[in-house]
Amino acid sequence: MEATFVVVGGGIAGVTCAETLAFLEPQEKIILISNSSLIKTVTNLHSITRTLTDFDIEETESSNLSKKYLNILVLHEILVEIDDDEHYVITSVHKIKYKFVCLCMGAEPKLIPQSSVFPQILGIRDTDSVKKFVEQLQTSKKIVIVGNGGIASELVFKVTNVEVHWVIRDKHITATFVDPGAAEFFQSMLNKTSSEEVVSKRMRYNEDDFKKSGAALGPDWYKNLIISGNKKCNSSSKIMIHYETEIIQVNSLENAEYPIEVTLSNNEKISCDLVVSATGVVPRSNFVTKHQFNKSEDGGIQVNEFMQTSVKDVYAAGDICSVNWTLAKHWFQMKLWTQARQMGCYAAKSMVGHLRNEVVLQDFCFELFAHSTKLFGYKVILLGLYNGQKLGTNYEILLRMTKGKEYIKFVLEDNKLQGAVLIGDTDLEETCENLILNQLDLSQYGDDILNPDIDIEDYFD
Ligand SMILES: Cc1cc2nc3c(=O)[nH]c(=O)nc-3n(C[C@H](O)[C@H](O)[C@H](O)COP(=O)(O)OP(=O)(O)OC[C@H]3O[C@@H](n4cnc5c(N)ncnc54)[C@H](O)[C@@H]3O)c2cc1C
Repeated sequence: MEATFVVVGGGIAGVTCAETLAFLEPQEKIILISNSSLIKTVTNLHSITRTLTDFDIEETESSNLSKKYLNILVLHEILVEIDDDEHYVITSVHKIKYKFVCLCMGAEPKLIPQSSVFPQILGIRDTDSVKKFVEQLQTSKKIVIVGNGGIASELVFKVTNVEVHWVIRDKHITATFVDPGAAEFFQSMLNKTSSEEVVSKRMRYNEDDFKKSGAALGPDWYKNLIISGNKKCNSSSKIMIHYETEIIQVNSLENAEYPIEVTLSNNEKISCDLVVSATGVVPRSNFVTKHQFNKSEDGGIQVNEFMQTSVKDVYAAGDICSVNWTLAKHWFQMKLWTQARQMGCYAAKSMVGHLRNEVVLQDFCFELFAHSTKLFGYKVILLGLYNGQKLGTNYEILLRMTKGKEYIKFVLEDNKLQGAVLIGDTDLEETCENLILNQLDLSQYGDDILNPDIDIEDYFD
């Protein structure tokens, strides 16, 4: 077989890349290789601000893509090898000659080491793993959740009828996304009496119930699921947080109420039915090449400002790659669906530019980190250097918090806004985005910038 562009991976990055290629080059042949029959497509895309977007994600049969774009052929196969000397992609079935190939195979969960021995230790990545978790939870009374990122935080908030022990390495919860102040703001939600969500105004993620797919889940993956244990209390779960600890050992228990026991680094022991390991991901590397890729410390394939890897005519996008260019001051990489979409789209533009010998200009989205998500039922918007990343100790923080309603944090350097955390329906995203991009000197406003009696949206209109 032969194609101008071969894209590998049916997740958000791969599908966005193939669709953008089909749009830009309707005459060129594109092959999308995916080891899952269902692929993820982005629908209802609209911009909230210049850099923040809102979209739905649909899981659809891969054949639908070929019906929509006549020049895309989808192969339900596994990439095994890339002969980058001769420009061939070799799958379990075909050998395909390419001009450009883009790798979008995502990442897999980094489970705690004991997971290979104990079936009670689960990771959450795709619909299959969620199905397994939901089933096992139904017979569980006590579970341990390890990890302090988005997945662990969502789970802790969402599970009901089970005793939860949350094991985190940090001094405060949800440390991947928020600082101790916001963590305290969220803490009250952990003692909720029901799992009713406070704010539901946000993007929807539509996951068809448990169809087979290898792609990572995305926001709202738990929306239509009943994630309930077997402790008949008909309410939210009892949650105990174990700060600054890790699991160091897991043992089987014989003739005991619970099948396993975990030992924490502070020597505390917890017997339980299930352990959920939500401790990050490792980029996939389940294929071979003639020349080795330059990789970053986390195992991600390094890409330059055009999403090109160190191997000629091989590009990469999404969770599988690690950026290796001089970053704009207010942007950094995080393995998120927003960035998977942006990178897939930009990799396509870049390949097309190189095919046509045209100059490629980097997308504006890499100017400002912008992420919209939901944590503990609240809408959460993170902009720029929202946690003072890259700023050392040379920054100020302005805070406004109304318990149970909103949490607004501005990060300022030399009186200029560098980043913001907006929790709740603050409607400040556009103002903050402009203030970060324009680097307006805010010294004349002082603390008034967050004065609740002043509508800063009007202020900077
Ligand atoms: C539970 C969960 C919750 C999340 N919540 C959020 C959130 O709230 N917000 C957010 O922004 N992000 C979230 N993420 C992260 C987000 O889902 C990922 O960053 C994003 O989906 C990555 O997209 P991708 O296309 O790079 O990779 P994937 O979606 O992993 O797609 C990779 C594709 O490649 C295929 N593949 C792999 N190897 C091969 C091979 N050898 N041959 C052929 N095909 C192959 C896979 O089957 C899959 O289709 C969450 C992730 C999880 C697991």
